[in-house]
Amino acid sequence: MKSSLLPGSAAGLPYQRLTINPSLSNNRSTVALSIPDQSPMERFSKHHLNVTQLCEQSWCEIKVVYGFLKPHMKRREMRRTAVMTGASIHLARELEANPDAVNVVVHTREDREALKLINLIQMVPALEAGMLVREFPVLGVLDGVFFLGVVDELYCSKSGELVLSELKTRSHNSLPHPAQAKGHSLQVGVYKLLFDSMVQGSMKRDQLLHYLKLRPHQAFGSELQSYAQKLGLLAVTFGELVDHLLVVLHFCNLQPIDKLCLEYRHQSSGVLIGNREVEFKETQLRAELRDYLAFWRGEREPHGVDIEDIEEAWKCRMCPYEESCEWRRSRLQEVMVEGSKKAK
Ligand code: SF4
Repeated sequence: MKSSLLPGSAAGLPYQRLTINPSLSNNRSTVALSIPDQSPMERFSKHHLNVTQLCEQSWCEIKVVYGFLKPHMKRREMRRTAVMTGASIHLARELEANPDAVNVVVHTREDREALKLINLIQMVPALEAGMLVREFPVLGVLDGVFFLGVVDELYCSKSGELVLSELKTRSHNSLPHPAQAKGHSLQVGVYKLLFDSMVQGSMKRDQLLHYLKLRPHQAFGSELQSYAQKLGLLAVTFGELVDHLLVVLHFCNLQPIDKLCLEYRHQSSGVLIGNREVEFKETQLRAELRDYLAFWRGEREPHGVDIEDIEEAWKCRMCPYEESCEWRRSRLQEVMVEGSKKAK
């Protein structure tokens, strides 16, 4: 396995940055959209969720299920989305902050997760010093489910507010409609919940090891060990690194995030389309989160797109599962039957 190290100190930055390649896709394939007595978490062997998974869910839950049932189509769509969502703009920004990249060989899942934690440990003091940090990992338990996420940007505004900013690129040179922006607002809101609980000391060692299914006594690979030593980290096992992270978070003086922003850029030109500030309504957000998690826990059936709602129906036309979607087919039949009844 190869992951990359972006040594910020080489670029005059006070922290070294590590990035990892996305992997660990779930290739299970079954037929039914839901299975009695088996929650989607169990069925798809999910021990934790990524925040972006929640955002996909806000788009269409049936689509999320198909993503697991038809992984080859999901992969094809992810490749297409990576182009459409301007992965190059994100990468350019990251390289702007950390121009030198060095590959690090990782041998275990513990090595891979350790890279994220090492980044995090270095970014905390940088953020405390008022620097802008990018790709800040956030993690923790919300409503009984462990989440992982990566915040695009955190920085202090001129007025001293801690600002979280998420970059979104668009193929159209216009701001998104509410149905498209819903997932974006959810994403930054959940990032804030995670970040705030981290800096308020809510993260627990046992939770992290338990939900991520990681071995605390697993020693790092030799290359990662030598990088950790260069950075002055004494940890040589994953558990020791977690302990170090918890101390860093406990003694840091970071405050909860004050402001949530979405920055929209035109995908092909990179030109700024506009910025939106997202209002943080914690009670409402937590209620929405509970409802989303009810799906993952198998407490309710998945919801598809409301094909009779003009604000929603267009989603299906962009969906790779449109032709085979059982939800859509049965809803179309219901609508036709209702229509013919009314006509009589
Ligand atoms: Fe969801 Fe529509 Fe795609 Fe079916 S076709 S998965 S309802 S977006």
